[in-house]
Amino acid sequence: MGFKWRAGYHFTRKAIGAFLFLVSTSCYGIDFEDFAPFQGKLSKEYVREKIAKFLQYSPEIQHYFSIEEEALALFASPEAKKEGVSEYRLAFGVEVPGSCIGFHKPLQEMKIAIDPGHFGGEWAQLEERYIDLEYQGKRCVFDEGTLTLLTALLLKEKLEKVGITVLLTRTEKGKGVYPENFFDWLKKHPELWKKGVSLSSLFRGHYNRLDLRQRAEMINAFKPDLTFVVHYNAVDDEKPKNFNLVFIPGAFCDKELEAAEDRYHFLRLICTQDLEQSSQLAEHLIGEFSKHLEVFPFNASLANSLKSGKGIYCRNLCLTRLIHGPVCYGETLVQNHQEELLKLSQADGVVEGMPCPQRVFEVAQAYYEALMTYLGGEPCNPSR
Ligand SMILES: [Zn+2]
Repeated sequence: MGFKWRAGYHFTRKAIGAFLFLVSTSCYGIDFEDFAPFQGKLSKEYVREKIAKFLQYSPEIQHYFSIEEEALALFASPEAKKEGVSEYRLAFGVEVPGSCIGFHKPLQEMKIAIDPGHFGGEWAQLEERYIDLEYQGKRCVFDEGTLTLLTALLLKEKLEKVGITVLLTRTEKGKGVYPENFFDWLKKHPELWKKGVSLSSLFRGHYNRLDLRQRAEMINAFKPDLTFVVHYNAVDDEKPKNFNLVFIPGAFCDKELEAAEDRYHFLRLICTQDLEQSSQLAEHLIGEFSKHLEVFPFNASLANSLKSGKGIYCRNLCLTRLIHGPVCYGETLVQNHQEELLKLSQADGVVEGMPCPQRVFEVAQAYYEALMTYLGGEPCNPSR
């Protein structure tokens, strides 16, 4: 039977994953003095390699920093760099932090945040994150925001059983995190009501950005040991391949060091081990996804991303940038892949009274086992 494409995803053809938002930011709670404890510690080579390996995607961001003889200097603008007026200087030292695996804490003291991506439910069409496709004579209808919520609820239950404290950014189907409903918010912004601008583009281009920032603020206030951001993928292709991938922080693109807040996070990712820990957790995650889902990692290059391992990509998304601590942003399975469609549209299980495909149970198990194997690793470098 034919395969009919009616999914509500907004794609750009060349860049898989380009539908994820790259959100520009404004200042909030930015204090470069937070990095005072790192003064005179990290070696110049370590900083240089970390920027090259994880952080710099576009050469243009070089207008906002320079690696000098004795310090890394940050600049508020290209003009400030020309004039030699730095915003902050991080003096180099001799330390090269060792590889840092796992946490040495009892599970009962661990805090983990989970962000189920998108809204789902009644907002799924507006946010353009739903699937409505026909395959083998069967109509398959589901939405990503509901799949991510079901995954997060299952994962939360597993983690709480072993004593971990868990924060879910949202717990209801069809509900985001920003306190104001989209239509109430829209009523207060008539300046955005322009001819030819769809409700969907207002939702995606404006309201969703506020919601993402709210999620990051909620997670940072919780001070988790690590964070999972849960998404399912989709590809602009009639017969796409199936694959998994995981985003971690990094890969700053052109114009992504323009705001002080962006430079703050750039420096945070240099100073802390958040990136290294994200990368190590991502390795476990991609391995467990392969094992439990029998779907392999994406292995080609991705636009605006730096490949850091099989299926692991640094990418400067709103949430990979704003969330403090290690963060893995999982993009499991391709929802519009033909066999996957059938699996993800089943209602052969139940989670908190909601129908849930068995496939989602497998995804939640993969996240859980990735965390457990990660936590079972060697102790962290005590100097951090
Ligand atoms: Zn998504």
